Amino acid sequence: MRPLEAHIDLDALRHNYQLACRCAPQSRSVAVVKADAYGHGALACAQALESQVPAFAVACIEEAMVLRQGGITRPIVLLEGIFSADELALVDIHDFWMAVHHQWQVDVLLTASLRKPIPVWLKVDSGMHRLGFAPEEAAAIWRQLQASANVTALHLMSHFATADARDDRYFKQQMGQLQSLARELRAPLSLANSPATLAWSVAHGDWNRPGVMLYGSDPLEVANDVSRQLLPVMTLRSEIIALRELREGEPVGYSGRWRAPRRSRIAVVACGYGDGYDRHAIDGTPVLVNGQRCTIAGKVSMDMLTVDVTDVPTAELGSEVVLWGKASNGAVLPVDEVARYCDTISYTLLTGVLPRAPRRYHSGSA
Ligand SMILES: *Cc1c(COP(=O)(O)O)cnc(C)c1O
Repeated sequence: MRPLEAHIDLDALRHNYQLACRCAPQSRSVAVVKADAYGHGALACAQALESQVPAFAVACIEEAMVLRQGGITRPIVLLEGIFSADELALVDIHDFWMAVHHQWQVDVLLTASLRKPIPVWLKVDSGMHRLGFAPEEAAAIWRQLQASANVTALHLMSHFATADARDDRYFKQQMGQLQSLARELRAPLSLANSPATLAWSVAHGDWNRPGVMLYGSDPLEVANDVSRQLLPVMTLRSEIIALRELREGEPVGYSGRWRAPRRSRIAVVACGYGDGYDRHAIDGTPVLVNGQRCTIAGKVSMDMLTVDVTDVPTAELGSEVVLWGKASNGAVLPVDEVARYCDTISYTLLTGVLPRAPRRYHSGSA
């Protein structure tokens, strides 16, 4: 069997969720499991968290239905609400909560005949300029929704553009908008994503919405004491399937991008962009071989990549290779670090791991 697997540590997932809760003891936290739990497997992650999580959040009703059909009974928030009017009936039947970000959604909600009122999060555009009502339109819509028998547990929801950044000016501008609106409407709030959960207690509301931190990625530009306690959840693991010796000056892989600067030993690893590993990885991108750091040498291929193991004498056929996550000897290679070498963010690497890399779930150190 091809040795590439994505190991998912469900104890680490629970640890990271508890960390999100400890950051914000006055808030409740929905666990964001959209995009198949950032590539970790939504149903398995939701099952692992369900006993400690009051609600889950996903992007759309298709993702919510996967959880319901898998037996998850907790409330599930649709972060972008419904995408067509007919979806409201499913929201009603399946106990989903919904964001409302557009006038047509308001109209559908106000005129529907429902079995029972739906918990609604009214989305305000406080500066992200993507989804939501402008603050000056939001108050009138809030009052309409509040007066409707179809709506319950109304919350004000907004999303931050820069909560991860060291420069806090824009964050404070968004926060200022929200605070004055919340005062005017006396609205309970749902504002904080992972970086705001970790770094901005002023943004902690009745509900927070941590996502990527649950999977052990640190979203902050500058780590803090809490974010340093996050544990990696996914370990993308493979093995060496071939080894070769190169003379100084010999190239490796497509276009010969990497050339041996000395006599070198090159390991071929079963993992490539056909598995979701980023082809933008440059020479020097770290990997762990037998728990020891070494670097990618040559362009990533579809099914394989090549690593300079000249300084890893223990490297042999079948040696463990960790692309990110935790090696058997305990060494950790953060996905955030790999992302920097690929000119991307952890979110794209994690959500990009393809089904070709089977997920293996572990908990209770099993
Ligand atoms: C994805 C998402 C989140 C979670 O964001 P992270 O940066 O992963 O914590 C929170 N809120 C909304 C509206 C989202 O779409």
